[in-house]
Amino acid sequence: MRDTELYQALLGLKDPWRVGAVKLDLVGGRVDVWIEDRAGVKWDCPECGQKGSVHDHSEERVWRHLDTCQFGTYLHVRLPRMACTAHGVKQVAPPWAEPCSRFTLLFENRLIDILKECDVTGAGRLATVSWDEGWGIMDRAVKRGLERKRDRVPEYVGIDEKSFAKRHRYETLVCDLTTGTVECVLEDRTQESLEGYWGQFSLEELEGIKAVAMDMWEPYIGATRDLVPGADKKIVFDRFHVTRYVNDAVDKIRGHEHKVLKDQGDETLKGTKHLWLMNAEKIPETRKDEFAVIRNLNLKTGRAWAIKESLRQFWDYRYPKNAEKYFRHWYFWATHCRLKPMVDAAKTLNRHLPNILTYFKHRITNATCEGLNSKIQTIKQMACGFRNRTHYRKAILFHCGGLDLYASGTS
Ligand SMILES: [Zn+2]
Repeated sequence: MRDTELYQALLGLKDPWRVGAVKLDLVGGRVDVWIEDRAGVKWDCPECGQKGSVHDHSEERVWRHLDTCQFGTYLHVRLPRMACTAHGVKQVAPPWAEPCSRFTLLFENRLIDILKECDVTGAGRLATVSWDEGWGIMDRAVKRGLERKRDRVPEYVGIDEKSFAKRHRYETLVCDLTTGTVECVLEDRTQESLEGYWGQFSLEELEGIKAVAMDMWEPYIGATRDLVPGADKKIVFDRFHVTRYVNDAVDKIRGHEHKVLKDQGDETLKGTKHLWLMNAEKIPETRKDEFAVIRNLNLKTGRAWAIKESLRQFWDYRYPKNAEKYFRHWYFWATHCRLKPMVDAAKTLNRHLPNILTYFKHRITNATCEGLNSKIQTIKQMACGFRNRTHYRKAILFHCGGLDLYASGTS
């Protein structure tokens, strides 16, 4: 087999394209392949599809292709320019690359696979492309994916805040809870930022939303009430956030009680912080006996702990009515325990009860968002090379957007 035939087969070139020459540069470590078009072919006009003859050929262009063994491989082509009676002289679109790309489809898609496994700097080292080239491929992949995506609002939406870097800068993560993907990352966690997201959709589309899981965060509640029809029945306060209020109360009570005891020389509560916050059955075997003893010492922390644990049963109810009845009992107990942080937490939950009870209808939580959050944490760690927040947000969509990222070309 001749080298030109070999490359013709490797590149999968079909008539009217063929390999004219192949040059191997052992010292430079590269293979250069020249591709030609057969004379006399009628080409389709890229605008209207009408056939036309070759007018001339444009300047030689070079595309980076997948390596041949250890050799960088480059395609050299002078693309034909055809004459259309309606549109004049037009350059023919090559089947091996997307317009304006300096990489072939196969190379671009291989780099996308590499970028899925590591950061832009790492991918650049592995595939010998510059940071800008690697970033360009990632950027185009996300753009392609977003264009292909059907523009619609998810049926089950999760909204979660996440802190960006330090200094109390926040972002809002909007997730599709059905597909477990990130829909978008909004700047800040204000009412305006979420309104900006809802605002892209028509009233009919917003009506299609079945439920929205979120934290009890007023700006999110406000934006959703203002723009999503029937929001009062659709907002579901995330059960893990709800639980966190009660956990925080337990922790406050323990912290205070520990200080008071310590001042009297009593170290009973030392090193017990996490035991009180765990679910009872999760307490490690080695500490179960110790915990059983302090739990029965009639400490304030023990009382708060019992209230926290009993709220867990609330989530097991099947019907909203029964759940509500259980909550009423719990609420009475929690507000009569004379432990201020617990009373406050119970009152907060009571104030938001209607949208806590919606859980029993929709059964959604923000666990998906939380999972994505930890994935995003990893992206952030490997993203020291991201020069700004736009890059960082694009990378989140690249890794967590569930997008169809691959280049497919024009034919
Ligand atoms: Zn035309």
